[in-house]
Amino acid sequence: MKIGIPRGLSYYNIYPFLYGFFSAIGIEVILSDKTTKKTLTSGSALVVTETCLPVKIFVGHVLNLIEKGVEKILVPSLQSFIPKIYNCSKIRGLPDLIRNVVKQDFQMIEPTLDKSENGKGLYSFLQECVSPFGIFDMERIKNASKAGWKVYNNFQVMLKSGMSYDNALKNAIKGKLTIEKDETEYPISVALVSHGYNIYDERASMKVIDKLNKMGVKVYTAYQLTDEQLEEGVSSLGQQIYWANETEMTGCAGHYLRDNKIDGLITITAFGCGPDSLMIERITRRSKQFKKPLLNLTIDEHTGEAGFITRLEAFVDMLYRKKRKQGIIDKGYAPTSNVMDFI
Ligand code: SF4
Repeated sequence: MKIGIPRGLSYYNIYPFLYGFFSAIGIEVILSDKTTKKTLTSGSALVVTETCLPVKIFVGHVLNLIEKGVEKILVPSLQSFIPKIYNCSKIRGLPDLIRNVVKQDFQMIEPTLDKSENGKGLYSFLQECVSPFGIFDMERIKNASKAGWKVYNNFQVMLKSGMSYDNALKNAIKGKLTIEKDETEYPISVALVSHGYNIYDERASMKVIDKLNKMGVKVYTAYQLTDEQLEEGVSSLGQQIYWANETEMTGCAGHYLRDNKIDGLITITAFGCGPDSLMIERITRRSKQFKKPLLNLTIDEHTGEAGFITRLEAFVDMLYRKKRKQGIIDKGYAPTSNVMDFI
């Protein structure tokens, strides 16, 4: 029994849980390959131009799994994780979108998770995941779900301790829980405000974390914060949560704007993303009040790497100059990077 999981959208949040769950119940997980130019172009070719980049990438990953010969592919409809707090319409309607644009032959497994509706919680979601494999025993599903939570919780502990996303995922999947301390000294710290699929998909983000690290910048994201810190972050900006992924943007920005170790904020949003455009507007206004510099990067399939690096470098240079002027860092210190080092 095999299930294909596209490496896109909710993959960056729930994959450790799904891996633990499916493995425990006896279903082998086949992941699509990492995002490449082909993933992007094949996905973009099937949807209207205005569709956001992460959805185009998701479509490309479904095509990749079909190419690999995977017959059953998971395309979840994640409506809401908390009652009355909804995901964006593209995430909620993902199975409908895939059904309409991908014409190849495959079986779509399309479970719904909707905490705003009775009987559409986690167990019903998991039941819908495994019933196409002839598994209906609720006890077995509940036990496998415990295994899923174990992998997920280990992953969260390692990620929050500052371990890189890739290492935390690798360890969690092997059933390991280790704490790795990054002893490198970074003169500058920034908060990277975005969703997992914009930060950890190396093609979409153009390895932004590596690039910043090479410039001497320590990067903090929403993924190092607890749910409570994120919720406090939202309310500290005088906002109420409306979108499910609002905590990753507004909550993260709200938290780090008040954090003295953070020198500036970098937001990454996908061109065509309605919810993010509203959140960014508010974050930009509030960052001025907190006197924290902010760089907003918009990504789509045409974003060029050289331009992306130039904007990052200009922003980081400005942060260095600001700190030197305040006498906080050595006057002689300067980033030694060169655009060509990153390409
Ligand atoms: S929140 Fe924005 S980027 Fe994410 S799927 Fe929805 S429209 Fe796309």
